Amino acid sequence: MGLDKWVNFFMILSFFAATTPIFSDSSSFTSKFLDLAKEPHVFDWMVDIRRKIHENPEMGFEEFKTSELIRSELRKLEIPYKYPVAITGVIGYIGTGKPPFVALRADMDALLMQELGDWEHKSKVPGKMHACGHDAHVAMLLGAAKILKEHEKYIPGTVVLVFQPAEEGGGGAKKIVDVGALQNISAIFGLHVAPHIPLGEVASRSGPMGAGSSLFEARISGKGGHAAIPHHAIDPILAASNVIVSLQHLVSREADPLDSQVVTVGKIQGGGAFNVIPDSVTIGGTIRAFSKESMMQLRQRIEQVIIGQAAVQRCNATVSFLDKEKPYIPPTINNDDLHEYFQSVATSVLGVDKVKGTQPMMGSEDFSFYQEVIPGYFFLLGMVNASVEHLESAHSPYFKINEDALPYGAALHASLSARYLLKLNRDVPVVEGKYNDEL
Ligand SMILES: [Zn+2]
Ligand SMILES: [Zn+2]
Repeated sequence: MGLDKWVNFFMILSFFAATTPIFSDSSSFTSKFLDLAKEPHVFDWMVDIRRKIHENPEMGFEEFKTSELIRSELRKLEIPYKYPVAITGVIGYIGTGKPPFVALRADMDALLMQELGDWEHKSKVPGKMHACGHDAHVAMLLGAAKILKEHEKYIPGTVVLVFQPAEEGGGGAKKIVDVGALQNISAIFGLHVAPHIPLGEVASRSGPMGAGSSLFEARISGKGGHAAIPHHAIDPILAASNVIVSLQHLVSREADPLDSQVVTVGKIQGGGAFNVIPDSVTIGGTIRAFSKESMMQLRQRIEQVIIGQAAVQRCNATVSFLDKEKPYIPPTINNDDLHEYFQSVATSVLGVDKVKGTQPMMGSEDFSFYQEVIPGYFFLLGMVNASVEHLESAHSPYFKINEDALPYGAALHASLSARYLLKLNRDVPVVEGKYNDEL
């Protein structure tokens, strides 16, 4: 048994042996969460954690040091956790250890890109960078954990902290779901930092928030030959050209114009000489849609069009959707009831004019895997202070976090989870034995 497992074992024992908590049917204890999150013992601590993670970015399912840092902070806070979950994931528990359960999620992975901005805590790993803000997401969830732990006796149920690996195309959320980590959880909340939204504001919507995405790759094979005698060859470059044009007709001619969809061919490889017809060409791209049905329809038609159009030019084609390496990500669909709930909590934390709506985005977010199995809500957290500086978009090599946003994320996480448990207790009194107590 490693150190982690011993600590785990001990903490879970003492956790469940804790004395009966004093339940409060009022949410008044949550009203000071934002002020608390701005206090140095929470704010400076979050900033420090975020900078450490930023300096040491790790790719999906390789977040070993990040995971170790999270576990070490949870141990210091005396918060029990499960590890490993989905390779590098960590799941912490605050509250009674009993139902109801509500979850908060932070992703942990970085991107394969070089940080080009220069600052004191820039990435120390060449070619890797936290350019999507997942370092800040981890720090904010730990901030929420610290605040909630200080108020644990008021929490009538259990807050489940999900530190998830591999959001950037690796399907980390799917792995968390597949290992059963969300069983018996009533709802899950997640956030993403947004460099275009003002600091202190949030933006979200009910229903479709982010598109589903899938990749495709096709190899179109002909017969190589001399460029000057094309009738002795079968030209896959011409076939690939027609395939790409035909693929663009799927959205423009076959999709409902009111149902947003995208087919983009972003990759084409084939040929290396001016006077040679190559044997084959590989193309690849991405598909975006806001419903599973539209996504499946596009996938089916993409395969038919590629194979059929290649055959017109006497070529063979094989199509793959790369589901093993880069799994299909469902659309992010926010639960209607949680939208109302989120708006009321966010308004009380931030103020009525700080809670905004937003258009659906064609980008995708693997938080959607959770929303496929339990009610989930995803929102954008503002961080730009326009009078100080402009912030670059996510995945830019100059991406920057405004660390002043950290207390807002931490306070929202803490308030959303604690109040949700209070609400569940008010709406449906917990009956002993009615639920399976095991997570
Ligand atoms: Zn990203
Ligand atoms: Zn992200």
